[in-house]
Amino acid sequence: MTKFVLAACKGGNMAQGSGFQGTYKVTAKNPAEVKPGDWYYGFDCLVCGRRFAVFDDTTSATKPVTFAGGGVFRVACPHCSADRMYQTDQVQHFQAT
Ligand SMILES: [Zn+2]
Repeated sequence: MTKFVLAACKGGNMAQGSGFQGTYKVTAKNPAEVKPGDWYYGFDCLVCGRRFAVFDDTTSATKPVTFAGGGVFRVACPHCSADRMYQTDQVQHFQAT
């Protein structure tokens, strides 16, 4: 379900005409499943400000993905349960600590 987003956005910039559009309901990872040292894509919660992971970066940051396009992610924060919409430019790429 989430893999096509990564595949569609690969290579730094979106290819013309193949934008990521629409609203995608995604599920945040349980913080207990996030492994320190691993890389993830996620968001900073708009309500509580805490960061959470949504996608694994299986490349360990060797091939960063740029999320672009007019699509939005809808995801519930695993910390405070706030269900919010996030734009592609709000995606955070981070290494868990
Ligand atoms: Zn929150």
